[in-house]
Amino acid sequence: QFLETYASHPVYISPRGSQLHAKNWPAEAALRMFLNNLSAQVAEDPEKLVVYGGIGQAARTPADARKIVELLLTLEEDESLLIQSGKPVGKIRSHAEAPRVLIANSNLVPKWATWEHFNQLRERGLMMYGQMTAGSWIYIGTQGILQGTYETFAACARKHYNGDLRHKLLVSGGLGGMGGAQPLAATMAGATFLGVDIDPERIRKRLETRYIDKMTFDYREAVRLALAAKDKGEAVSIGLVGDIGDVLEKLIQDGITPDILTDQTSAHDPLNGYVPHGMCLPQALALREVDPGEYRARSLRSMARHVGFMLEMQRRGSCTFDYGNNLREFAQQGGEPNAFQIPGFVPEYIRPLFCEGKGPFRWVALSGDPEDIRVTDEALKALFPENTNMINWLKQAQLKVDFQGLPSRICWLGMGEREKAGLLFNQLVRDGKVKAPIVIGRDHLDCGSVASPYRETEGMLDGSDAVSDWPLLNLMANTSGGATWVSFHHGGGVGMGYSQHAGMVILADGTDRADQSIRRVLHNDPATGIFRHADAGYEAAQETSEKFDLGL
Ligand code: NAD
Repeated sequence: QFLETYASHPVYISPRGSQLHAKNWPAEAALRMFLNNLSAQVAEDPEKLVVYGGIGQAARTPADARKIVELLLTLEEDESLLIQSGKPVGKIRSHAEAPRVLIANSNLVPKWATWEHFNQLRERGLMMYGQMTAGSWIYIGTQGILQGTYETFAACARKHYNGDLRHKLLVSGGLGGMGGAQPLAATMAGATFLGVDIDPERIRKRLETRYIDKMTFDYREAVRLALAAKDKGEAVSIGLVGDIGDVLEKLIQDGITPDILTDQTSAHDPLNGYVPHGMCLPQALALREVDPGEYRARSLRSMARHVGFMLEMQRRGSCTFDYGNNLREFAQQGGEPNAFQIPGFVPEYIRPLFCEGKGPFRWVALSGDPEDIRVTDEALKALFPENTNMINWLKQAQLKVDFQGLPSRICWLGMGEREKAGLLFNQLVRDGKVKAPIVIGRDHLDCGSVASPYRETEGMLDGSDAVSDWPLLNLMANTSGGATWVSFHHGGGVGMGYSQHAGMVILADGTDRADQSIRRVLHNDPATGIFRHADAGYEAAQETSEKFDLGL
């Protein structure tokens, strides 16, 4: 009966309310978040089990999804479920404080860690791509990246434009699951935004969820709207259907130079993500099937062309940065030798935050009631009255963010703050101030959980960019601490061969046991980020370590 109602492919629905369907809340939390990831309001393509980020999936096949649901419904408190690239492969004996689910996605022995080898395995049904939060069941829709994108644009404004983005034009490509956060983040930061996506359906989804204001198929109209808004200093966002390379070429011909330029097409995956120049979407999809080699070659050449235009814009004065999709590497492979003259966003804007243990803390109301998120927002404002940045963000988010699926919130918090927030949420559940337990998680794009030399660990002070002992230690720390589920993935954000990263989710169900686990996990998790950055020689991280007495 449960399967018919909640997990009948391709219709996935997360249960709501305070009644258990599984045998305990930790298993119920995993079950609800798994189904939430796959639900139509959240996933970019539920039919294919794709949640976001190119082909980032939550389960390998519909049969695996069904089996995962069956197993979570019957999972005992002294068992843990093992998931291998989206397929449930066994249960192990464990104990009540151990993670209920242990997940490994897309991991390959380094010499074989290429898209070519991975795609062969995927075609044979042996693997799936987990991205970061898709395969670790803590994707919350486009809001998940919204605050990070907002922080990035705001940091760019502080560095280059005296903190003011009014009368500034921000241009970017890709309005998919994550890239779709750009228009709202840009307008929240005060800029005029012009975004380009080859797929009209993706822009329509952003219109429906109020992430973007306008959509057009007409280049002239888009430019007219964008320039008029920029002149008036209006924070308006426009989505234009087209190839981002073509649009940049036209902007250059027309002498229009954006103030800020970046990109969030799915460039990390030249076969299943990026759409090559010179073909409409149906043609591209057909070529992908019949001649993957030719498709990939065209993708690389198109990325080289695309980055060539970005470099020209950079020369003309655009503040241009790579936004974590590995575009520079594939553009270089496609023939653009200067691709890495474009800086990455982490060394430019985010690393100082990582040195304070700050990262994308997020939580979800398992009750399904938006009122529960309002209660947590207000409680956080009262807990950290001095954190005006956070309070401003929460106020704007309350006004502007429509929930996708289970109500949720993201808010970057640092060392110390995360633990306090977690304990506060557990108290709200215990006191009945919210109607059901809350899960707390984060993106893998965090201070201690990822090794990704073209993104989170680009240009580390000591040159340790590619050392992936750190995310493994983060995984082990969170497993030892008793997170509710943990995961280790390969290739998220930037694609196969380029990253390794760990995820964790912890349940606040109002119990004393949850208090203990939260004290451990939400301390250890950011602490591993402080260890990592202090060890690499960042003074700010060493100071944070002393402040929190981390005893390095
Ligand atoms: P997605 O697959 O949901 O969306 C990508 C979009 O790019 C699609 O809508 C697609 O139609 C469009 N596109 C592809 N080729 C194009 C072209 N030539 N011109 C115009 N549009 C084109 O992916 P997503 O979840 O939005 O993620 C986008 C990228 O950002 C990925 O590479 C992802 O790994 C990366 N990412 C970055 C961050 C970050 O913090 N910076 C976080 C998550 C993901």
